[in-house]
Amino acid sequence: MAILKVVIVGAGVVGASCARSLAREGADVVLLEQGEAPGVRGATAAGMGHITVNAADEASIQLCILGRKIWREDAPPSSEEDGFVEIGTLWMAEDDASLADLGLAASRLNEAGVAADLLEGSSLFEVEPALARDLRGGLRLPEDGAIYAPTAAASMVGEAVQIGATIRTSVKVLAVERGQVLLDDGTSISADAIVIATGLEALELCEETGVSIPILPREGHLAITSRGTCVLNHHVVEAAYQQGALGEVEDTVACAILPRSTGQLCIGSSRRPRRAGEVDSELIERIMVRSERFVPGISGLPVVRTWSGTRAATGDDRPLIGALPGIEGVWIAAGFEGLGITQAPAAAQLITCSILGQESPIDPGPWDPSRQMATS
Ligand SMILES: Cc1cc2nc3c(=O)[nH]c(=O)nc-3n(C[C@H](O)[C@H](O)[C@H](O)COP(=O)(O)OP(=O)(O)OC[C@H]3O[C@@H](n4cnc5c(N)ncnc54)[C@H](O)[C@@H]3O)c2cc1C
Repeated sequence: MAILKVVIVGAGVVGASCARSLAREGADVVLLEQGEAPGVRGATAAGMGHITVNAADEASIQLCILGRKIWREDAPPSSEEDGFVEIGTLWMAEDDASLADLGLAASRLNEAGVAADLLEGSSLFEVEPALARDLRGGLRLPEDGAIYAPTAAASMVGEAVQIGATIRTSVKVLAVERGQVLLDDGTSISADAIVIATGLEALELCEETGVSIPILPREGHLAITSRGTCVLNHHVVEAAYQQGALGEVEDTVACAILPRSTGQLCIGSSRRPRRAGEVDSELIERIMVRSERFVPGISGLPVVRTWSGTRAATGDDRPLIGALPGIEGVWIAAGFEGLGITQAPAAAQLITCSILGQESPIDPGPWDPSRQMATS
């Protein structure tokens, strides 16, 4: 069988996952990245790295289960920096209504075969002693974890290169055409298949290609404490976080705190419908106040860095994964909002199966880009 040449545009965690997956299947992969290295630009460099099964709906659960499974079994060589660390997630309820929501989420997750235990009363504080004592309860997903996405992306690209892929950095793709991409150095590269994995910038690239895609920017702010300040055992997140991430977002702050294997706490997070710019210190202050509500004393820990990044959202809260309508031989994997690190390896499998004509491990239908696209 002839070897398929695949050009992947963008070496964030999604493009890196696609490169590894397609190279393993024997494709001749060329990965093109405008930045100086994989994983150092875009949302991958700004993300928290929480790997979780999100209970939003059945389709999302399946994509997260597959993504988490691949991270758990097949993360890049384990080290403090890029291995999967099983820390578990603890959703926190501050009132009875939130606890009831967590109960419903537990049922949905359990039905899908995901370990998730509802904790009420003192059992919450037995597993996480640092939490505020007036919380009503929690939901624990013990198999969730954390990844440091920038180095994980670099490691996956490294593996792809070892088995024959090529990576070119500091090169920008200006346009995608049928069978070729046009580069900013005036050259072009031909390919049997092209994968657009450019995160938020899929918007501009698809526009150049004559396809209008629904990608919306969602800025988020994070802060990180110094080493040795970790007071938590789990990634803790307040129950209301979920509502803040779905539908039309105005300006939300919700407590989400990830313990890193370096002994640091990554504290977030916020959502506003815009691209990231300068760090907004008032927003960081709101995040710290919200975190203090759930983890008393946390706002007194030394913060060594604050930053903002942009999630790429879609109009229906689902990523676009699959063949791009209107231009043959082009695929897209973008629009993962706040779950792109979790879902990247699953998206890579779906893209690989679609390009190679193999059967998908899960139903690709919910992610089909044609569901909400127009071509010009
Ligand atoms: C504050 C914040 C917290 C988050 N926390 C989590 C979390 O805890 N868990 C989770 O699962 N997800 C999280 N996310 C989401 C996650 O980070 C993203 O969904 C994911 O990183 C998207 O990866 P990507 O590869 O699609 O895009 P990106 O990381 O944006 O990568 C796109 C790449 O394409 C390159 N590129 C763009 N245009 C071109 C071009 N024309 N030519 C060549 N190269 C190009 C860019 O330079 C970039 O390297 C978070 C995001 C943010 C902002």
